[in-house]
Amino acid sequence: MTGEIIAVGTELLLGDILNTNAQYLSRQLAALGIGVYFQSVVGDNKDRLLNAFENAFKRADLVITTGGLGPTDDDLTKETGAEYFGLEMIEDKESMDNLRDYFKNNNMPETNLKQGYIPKGAKALKNNNGTAPGCIIEKDGKILVMLPGPPAETIPMFEESVIPILSKKQDKTFVSRILRLSGIGESAAAEAIRDIMKESENPTIAPYAKQDEMLFRITAGGNNKDEADKLINPVVKQIYKRLGQYIYGEGEDASLEKAVLNELEKRGLKIACAESCTGGELCARLVNCSGASNVLLEGVVSYSNESKISRLSVKEETLLKYGAVSAETAEEMAKGVSLNLKADIGISTTGVAGPLGGTEEKPVGLVYAAIYMNGKTNVYRYMIKGNRNKIRHRTVTNILNNLREMLIKDVSEK
Ligand code: ATP
Ligand code: MG
Repeated sequence: MTGEIIAVGTELLLGDILNTNAQYLSRQLAALGIGVYFQSVVGDNKDRLLNAFENAFKRADLVITTGGLGPTDDDLTKETGAEYFGLEMIEDKESMDNLRDYFKNNNMPETNLKQGYIPKGAKALKNNNGTAPGCIIEKDGKILVMLPGPPAETIPMFEESVIPILSKKQDKTFVSRILRLSGIGESAAAEAIRDIMKESENPTIAPYAKQDEMLFRITAGGNNKDEADKLINPVVKQIYKRLGQYIYGEGEDASLEKAVLNELEKRGLKIACAESCTGGELCARLVNCSGASNVLLEGVVSYSNESKISRLSVKEETLLKYGAVSAETAEEMAKGVSLNLKADIGISTTGVAGPLGGTEEKPVGLVYAAIYMNGKTNVYRYMIKGNRNKIRHRTVTNILNNLREMLIKDVSEK
């Protein structure tokens, strides 16, 4: 099979953005054993895009576009793809339902409605990271895959929905392994293994960012699973060597909270949580995993000063002198909840989740969290950007990861 990539977007032609999607897709297609001999970039213009489709399909069986799936009038990739194949646009119930679900708390702008339409006979690809569904048209031995432009949407959609379809059409067996990292950003992680990524063609290594974490997907193609595994294993080993401390798990089902619970259970440690700004989210995320009962004793949502004093034994002077959002209060909360509940570990969170309540000294997004264990307390200070929910969610992720790192370090030091 041969493939071509068409990146759609006037911004690309003006040089405002770099065509990283083409780079990513070329690498992925190479790993799938699909030869890529041409890439092109077209502006948001119907006639020129039709022309690009004509040229590309003269040469290739598979064409992948990115961009132009948004809600505005200049987003016209899908409509042009339909026109090229002589298909009308029809409503796709699932895409429309997803769209309405996405906007359930806000009014959906009228213009977004068109994202619920796909060419007749095409297959819609769900977008788990945005509003624009992608789609695949297969007709007369030709395949057109249309993906959204933002890489944070393009990459997951390609990995989740397109790889499985394309790899079925190839004789080779493709195997992927997913490493999940917490506590490091996408660019820092990619930088740390840049040379490995560059050298490695089979397997390919694709980094991508998810909410609050990042992933590396390592994909190899071989004549059978064994052969593909043998190609992947040494590369994974190298990545562990450089970034092992951040890798909390592997595969689609791993989660940070599960990893933390496992580490705690292995050591027979019990925890108690005192949550102010996270309002129970820390406990909720732990309780989402089965087996939490082996580890979690109790969670206290301690929102007022009175509660911090009576339930967590925070000193009144501490609150008066340093305030509820302070390293000192976080420290006493963690210690208090641990001692009062006779837990091995006490964890606390206290912060300004906004949007109101921020000051110059303590702006929205400032969070203190603490872990009390073995008579010692570690206090962490986070500055988190985003809205109230994001700040609370990220706080939980951060403290879980800090706890995980602490547990692992504790072992390696012994
Ligand atoms: P949206 O719904 O956001 O409008 P879209 O599918 O219509 O998505 P575009 O409008 O074409 O996509 O592009 C949106 C953004 O995605 C661009 O501003 C740019 O940041 C990014 N982007 C688009 N194409 C590429 C590309 N080829 N490589 C890297 N980034 C891209
Ligand atoms: Mg757009």
